[in-house]
Order: sequence, then structure tokens, then C-alpha cells
Amino acid sequence: MYYVSTRDRLQKTTGSGAIAYGLAPDGGLFTPEAIPSLAGNALNTLRDMTYRQRAVYVMNMFLDGYSAAELNGFCAKAYSPERFRDPAVAPVRKVSEGTYALELWHGPTCAFKDLALQMLPHLLTSALKKEGEGKTACILVATSGDTGKGALEGFKDVPGTRILVFYPKDGVSAIQELQMTTQEGSNVGVCAVRGNFDDAQAQVKGLFSDPDLKKELAGRGYFLSSANSINWGRVLPQIVYYVSAYCDLMKSGNIQKGDKVNVCVPTGNFGDILAAWYAKRMGVPLGKLICASNQNNVLTDFIKTGVYDRNRPFYQTISPSMDILVSSNLERLIHAFSYGNVEQVRGYMDQLAQTGRYEVASSVKRELVRDFAAGFCTDDQAKAMIANTWKGNGYLLDPHTAVAFHVLEDYRSETGDSTPAVVASTASPFKFCPAVLEALGEKAPVQGLESIAQLARLTGLEPPVPLTNLAGKEIRFTQVVEKSGMVKPVLELLK
Ligand SMILES: *Cc1c(COP(=O)(O)O)cnc(C)c1O
Repeated sequence: MYYVSTRDRLQKTTGSGAIAYGLAPDGGLFTPEAIPSLAGNALNTLRDMTYRQRAVYVMNMFLDGYSAAELNGFCAKAYSPERFRDPAVAPVRKVSEGTYALELWHGPTCAFKDLALQMLPHLLTSALKKEGEGKTACILVATSGDTGKGALEGFKDVPGTRILVFYPKDGVSAIQELQMTTQEGSNVGVCAVRGNFDDAQAQVKGLFSDPDLKKELAGRGYFLSSANSINWGRVLPQIVYYVSAYCDLMKSGNIQKGDKVNVCVPTGNFGDILAAWYAKRMGVPLGKLICASNQNNVLTDFIKTGVYDRNRPFYQTISPSMDILVSSNLERLIHAFSYGNVEQVRGYMDQLAQTGRYEVASSVKRELVRDFAAGFCTDDQAKAMIANTWKGNGYLLDPHTAVAFHVLEDYRSETGDSTPAVVASTASPFKFCPAVLEALGEKAPVQGLESIAQLARLTGLEPPVPLTNLAGKEIRFTQVVEKSGMVKPVLELLK
């Protein structure tokens, strides 16, 4: 199976090529030429497997150049009991009748990014070997909070790699910042940037396409690669957990094979919900994919109107990992809905770059509303949802997941569609203690690490070990740069 660039159908490569180089040379995203099918008995077969086995099965369908034995080895390491505290890896919990949380935060950094970022280093380092790449890969990451730490944990001390993470100085939670600045490992770098996530992401994209930097680094024996969800190696492991969630619901008898299940995903860069769409296209009987945004609701408008317009105020919210106005992965979906008309895709992306706005053709709009629904909520609404779900169901939501619960409730009352729904629960509430404490009525919650103990006392829940372990870790990284100054830390790390 081959991968094509979203902007040029002649730019074709294998799975390992797509993973090794991240972005196509024309700036497009590599996307599978055809989507494999889970028809016939496949879901029954998958139902009786462990998470790790399901991951091997699904990833193998997309990656010709990797053997099942090889993928098996990767999964054993990436999803080992040392790394994932829950034996189910990504367990499905019933929150109320017909509403389930797919818990994606039992990994080392307590957010869903771990499911992909524990796998990516294995996929990437073997892809580099398969591609005959002799240079060392330097992973460059722009993060809205969780990707950075996830990538650092995944790549730390992986031979043949370096990793440098940029995060917006005032755009991440205190605990997220501490997770990154205390990162261990001999091949890692962390740097704060003045500006927001979109600024950092735009600059990182600029570094990737800077020919002078490329030449300089090649001379030093390096090339730049990406761990952002523009890399197919990030999206692929995420498809697995939507397949797995459906199988778990079959296994527990909550649904019968073939029953429709809606999926609601708190969305930022559109990577997570895109993975759900691939699962649906593979034949998992998913109904509506509900895209949930916070007050940065550019995707809500897009899905409802077909107009993508980033010219709007940027809000800092209590769900910082969704504070994004340019959702890179949308390009893969638009490409799929354009049926090979890459000129159309390129046209939209050029307009986005030049004016910050584009409107898709009516044929694309029709497909969008068939598969997707969308909504958004404010911080106050998300906090109310945290309080209500804790009081009513004894289930504690983090602020991102709360956005999705709110949007699901709105969707159900607006449409009358009461199909069972799986909500992607993307982070542990202990990652965002001050906001969660406020939601639960704490007037002046403490900040930083003490807030973890405060939330544990208030709820009686046990905080995840990787977060309590942060106490007493040494701060290793303090550098802050202007967004125009991001080349310097790259050159420093890759001396
Ligand atoms: C990254 C992240 C999101 C958004 O996911 P995308 O794939 O960027 O849409 C939502 N919630 C949390 C906690 C995250 O870390």
C-alpha cells in the first residue's frame, strides 16, 4: 500500500517513507492511497484479542513494509505494563446509560498522545533503516502542551534520534510545563517561545522548509523530522483505539456487532478525530463523529458552514491542548473528500496561507455533514460539566474531556439522536488540577504540584504516579526565545 501527498498525486511513497520524512516535499501530508477494510469476520477476530494484538492487526493492514513480528515487538515495548498502568491500555468505562469514556491517559504522560508517541519512535527508527537513511533524525515538535511531553518520553535516549520541543511560554498548564522542563534523557532539548501555539507551529513548519538550515544540518549529519500529528506514524496508532473501543463494547455485551456507535472527540489539531474517521472508513460501524471545540471554535464553524476562517480572536482556555486555530490534519480529510482533485486541495491550502480563509466546494460540504457533527463550549460550561458529572456519576473529567461531554449533550438534545456514544477521554484530570478544583467549587485552588494533593484529598481519587513523581525532579530547561529566534536552539542542540 502506498501513501500520496495531499497536494500532488505523483508524490508517492511507502509507509516507511511517509513515517521517515513526515511531510511530503511539496508541503502536503502523506495519506493512504486506499483505506483497508475490516469487513467480514475481522471485528469478531479483533474482539477476542488484547489491545496489543489489536494494534498489530490494524497497523499491519496499513504498513506493507513491516512484518507482523516486527510490529509485535514494537507493541510489546510501547504498550508494556511499565508504560501503561491499566492492563487494558485504553479501557472503556461506562459513565451513564449509553455514554462511555474511552480512557486514553494511562500512559507515562497521562494524556492520549502517549498511545501514538510511545509507538512512533519504533516506527520511525525502523523506517529510517528501511529507507537507508544514514543521518540522525532530529525530531522538532511544536506543542500545545501534551504532545511535547509525550514525544520527549517516547524519544528519550532512543539511539539515532534527537528531540527538541518548543512550547508557548504562557500557553500550557503549570504541570505540563514542569513535565517538560524536568525531562530526563541525553538527546533531548526543551525551549519556551513567546507567542501562542499557532505561532510556534508556523515557525516549526518554517524551519522544516528552510533550505539553508537543511544544508547546514546535513553537513553536521542531521535531518529534521516531525512527531506532530502531520506524521502518519502519529495518526495510525490512534486508529487502533477506536477499533478497540468498538470491540470492547461488543465484548461487554453493551452492543451487538453492527450496532451504530457515535464518537465524540475533544479536538484541536484534528488528529484524534481523523483517526476515528479512518476507523469508520475501515468498516467499524461508527455513526456521527462529533467534533468538540472550546471557545476556539473554528472547526465548529467549518463543519457547519464549509468555511474555514482563522481570522478571529485567539482565546486561552482551561483546555489549552485545544487552543488551536489552524488544524493541520484537516487537510487529510479534505483530500479524501476531494477524490483525487489535488489542485482543489492545494488551492484551499494556498488561500489559508495567504488570507487565513477558504470555503470548500459543495461536494465536500455534503460529505462533511454526512460523517461529522460539531459544537463548542465555554470554560464555564466545561466547568459545570465537570461538576455535574462528578456529582451525578462519580466520574471526574479533565477540562478537555468535559468539552466533549458538553458538546455531546448539546448534540443529543438538538438532534434527538440517542445512539450510544464513546467520548474520547484525552487527559487525566490530575494534569489540570486548578481548573478542575475550581469546577468543583474550590474558591482559591493552589497552583502547581500542590494542587495534585488538593484534588486527591477533595475527590478521594488516586493521582497518577508519573505526576506525583514530578515533585523533587530537577528543572533542566529554562531557555525562552522569541518566535523569530527558534533556529538558535536547533543549532545548539545539534552541534
Ligand atoms: C492534543 C489534545 C487534544 C486535541 O487532539 P487533536 O488530535 O490535536 O485534535 C485534546 N485533548 C488533549 C488532552 C490533548 O492533549
